[in-house]
Amino acid sequence: MLTRFAPSPTGYLHLGHAYAAVQAFSLGPCLLRIEDIDNTRSRPELTDAIYEDLTWLGFDWPKPVRVQREHIADYQGVIDTLEARGLLYEDYTTRSGREDRSLPPVVKLSTARAMAAVGTDRLSFQEGDAIIPIDLTTLEDKTLVRRDIGTSYHIAVTHDDWLQGVTDVTRGRDLYEKTAIHVLIQTLMGWPVPRYHHHGLVMESSDKDADKKMSKRWGSQTIRSLRESGLTPTDVLALARNTQR
Ligand code: GLU
Repeated sequence: MLTRFAPSPTGYLHLGHAYAAVQAFSLGPCLLRIEDIDNTRSRPELTDAIYEDLTWLGFDWPKPVRVQREHIADYQGVIDTLEARGLLYEDYTTRSGREDRSLPPVVKLSTARAMAAVGTDRLSFQEGDAIIPIDLTTLEDKTLVRRDIGTSYHIAVTHDDWLQGVTDVTRGRDLYEKTAIHVLIQTLMGWPVPRYHHHGLVMESSDKDADKKMSKRWGSQTIRSLRESGLTPTDVLALARNTQR
């Protein structure tokens, strides 16, 4: 088995990342991958901060680390394959719902054509020990090529999990809804569908007063600010476990 921790360098790692890292690194052999294709949000200089903070927390990982921005051609290859099979189409609709041909289009995967290509409208994946069915008839067409970055998270994450031989995906529950499109891409590309383990998130907001207090105090604090305030790695990891939901 092989899993991975795949943060994006869009800010300093915070308590939520520490918790996610614990989940990933305690499951089994674990890779670190830097998911920085979104050049509108990712800042390469924060990648070194990720290495530094994770090392301080006591994690270690095989080198070299796969940094997604260095592999855009790989993601383009996947897009070209899907395109050649007639599964993609251009969409000029902007966020406001209007058509605007002065901007480059997004490229979407037609779920209808994808269902025809895989020959079924039902797929499934394993979440821990449970089998979760996917009804493709309810899956809307997803953007696989973003206007601004020329590729997408869905393509990069599924490609790299396949390329790196990831058997088990650990990630936050906030990404659970993305799994259907990931399984569809994996099936279309003939890649094995990994087993998923969606974990709870560190509290950012909650209805409970006690939680709110905790969240205000810790929820969005960066690892380095906690370190600077005198906490040890053990303290930070304990805090991460105690503030998860
Ligand atoms: N890079 C994603 C994130 O920052 C996680 C990747 C995934 O597991 O899908 O949340």
